[in-house]
Amino acid sequence: MKDYHTHPQILQLPHRFPEFVETALKKGVDEICITDHMPLSCSKAKDRIPQGRVGEYCERVQELKEAYKGKIRIKCGIEIDFHPSLTSEIEAVLKEGNFDFVLGSSHLHVLKSPSLFDICKTRNEYAAAMFENTTAAAKSGYFNAIAHPDMHRWIFTRPDRFPLEDDGYEEARHEDTIEAMLDAIRQEGLFFEINPHLAMSTGDPADLYPTPTLLERALKKGIRCSYGSDAHKSEDVGGMLDYLTTASPYKEALKIWNQS
Ligand SMILES: [Zn+2]
Ligand SMILES: [Zn+2]
Repeated sequence: MKDYHTHPQILQLPHRFPEFVETALKKGVDEICITDHMPLSCSKAKDRIPQGRVGEYCERVQELKEAYKGKIRIKCGIEIDFHPSLTSEIEAVLKEGNFDFVLGSSHLHVLKSPSLFDICKTRNEYAAAMFENTTAAAKSGYFNAIAHPDMHRWIFTRPDRFPLEDDGYEEARHEDTIEAMLDAIRQEGLFFEINPHLAMSTGDPADLYPTPTLLERALKKGIRCSYGSDAHKSEDVGGMLDYLTTASPYKEALKIWNQS
């Protein structure tokens, strides 16, 4: 199995990487893609690659590839926060590094000026903005895969942090916006990520990204899926694979991922 979304923070916390590999091997993961977060001027989060060190990050991953040869396959990836206002920062990062795999994410909650919470007042408005941003990400040409396609569902679990009126989020209300997003992903040949990050924290498979209904629509269009645990801790590498490889429609999607 391949896990193509992990955050070992190899520059900041290099001692943790052997633990990530140990868990990977225990969970049957034989290929791991390191996708630490891009540096971003509007975010001071400590789990991001420090500013100006993207080239060094890629060199370090190349060293790990060599060091772990025969034990586990390692790929050099990065998680990029997509928004049209961030284009110049994204392009600088992609120029500075050399990547096997680039993950595109809609992390609209990190935007500061203007904050999306000033523009979107309700949960459904926020979800629409996320799906539309993902469509633009898919069309940007920067990415190999779209990460956690409906992660606004996590935003809705934190009303204390993210002030949105609860107008009853329903995926079915976003039919046309989702259709446009999936068409863009299919046309660009991108992977659509299955990601257990929220479900691991709640312990509830109902919190998997994407929802079964969204995944079924993607599969019907012939979109290929990837798997990424989004592990920020070593114990989360390969998270929920026991469930995902046995429950429909996830197991069908992951079968194709493992053969690709
Ligand atoms: Zn993310
Ligand atoms: Zn991530």
